[in-house]
Amino acid sequence: MSRRAELLVDPKTGVKEQSYVGFSWPNLFFGVFWFLYKRIWGWAVISFLASVVTSGIAWFIFPFFANGLHRSHLKRAGWLPEVQAQAFTINPDSHVLCPDCKELVRKEARVCKHCKATLVPQA
Ligand SMILES: [Zn+2]
Repeated sequence: MSRRAELLVDPKTGVKEQSYVGFSWPNLFFGVFWFLYKRIWGWAVISFLASVVTSGIAWFIFPFFANGLHRSHLKRAGWLPEVQAQAFTINPDSHVLCPDCKELVRKEARVCKHCKATLVPQA
């Protein structure tokens, strides 16, 4: 059975997707279509061809590492674990305006990354 791994976040869109480790039942049932659904085009093609070549045997092998493929696919595309992604997401809880240049900087920053002004970190 699969269990939950990291919750991954696309820092560009804020979209979240749960990643899993272990055997993928959805992949066993949906095979190639699971890869298509997850938008992993390369592995969709590979798993389709592998299933044809092996008369369907590959269909039962991919579920063992489909979740790993999915996770590394997202990470290559720039997705980050949720904890890490928060550092890149600008929101009122994490960022303040630099008093000198009015750019957004992280609350904990001691130096403005834009104008190098010294800041008082706000907890
Ligand atoms: Zn500044």
